[in-house]
Amino acid sequence: MAAPLRILVFGKQGSGKGTLATRLHQRLGLPHVSTGDMLRDAAASGSEFGRRVAAIMDAGELVPDDVMEGVVRERLEAPDAAAGFILDGYPRTPGQAAFLDDLLAPEGVTVAIELQVPDDVVRARIVHRRVCTSCGAIYAAGRDAAAESGVCDVCGGSVVQRADDTEEAVGARLATYASLTEPLLGYYSDRGLLERIPGEGDPDSIAEGAVDLVEARRS
Ligand SMILES: [Zn+2]
Repeated sequence: MAAPLRILVFGKQGSGKGTLATRLHQRLGLPHVSTGDMLRDAAASGSEFGRRVAAIMDAGELVPDDVMEGVVRERLEAPDAAAGFILDGYPRTPGQAAFLDDLLAPEGVTVAIELQVPDDVVRARIVHRRVCTSCGAIYAAGRDAAAESGVCDVCGGSVVQRADDTEEAVGARLATYASLTEPLLGYYSDRGLLERIPGEGDPDSIAEGAVDLVEARRS
């Protein structure tokens, strides 16, 4: 059996890393594991755990390591992730990276990809972003009619601004990215696992470039 293909996708929120992860999932046939989506689903569930997560995310803060470890372990040990996965939103701290190394030993992580986009670009993208609560389709206020009407073009669901997509929460997340994620990228760079790619431009071209980088690592 070939070694598992474990891909980490990094980027500021609004960099397009979710889109890249979806495209890699389609091209490579590996599950897209988004810890952000998993936490938002939990928050929407209204459970005690979900309410705790919602309060943390509304404040633009990180969910504690011990909570994330349980969520990530359960998902990455699922049978559909045995051949590999595209992990989006984790790790975010050196402690989480060490946990992931232990979890994935001995093969470890195959490649860490960072989509690079300037702060002012992601800030503008996020405050204009609207999302369908039913199918997850993403729209931009000031560009897409569905963002103004509140009705999804794809499924007719309701299109809203996420509670954590405000200017204030975005600022907190950008500061967190600079202080925690940038050093973390150094961790993967030191191990020869980091690929940085420009995140502005056509999403299909960006995804093609990323697939080429992954394939080069596989062989
Ligand atoms: Zn929809």
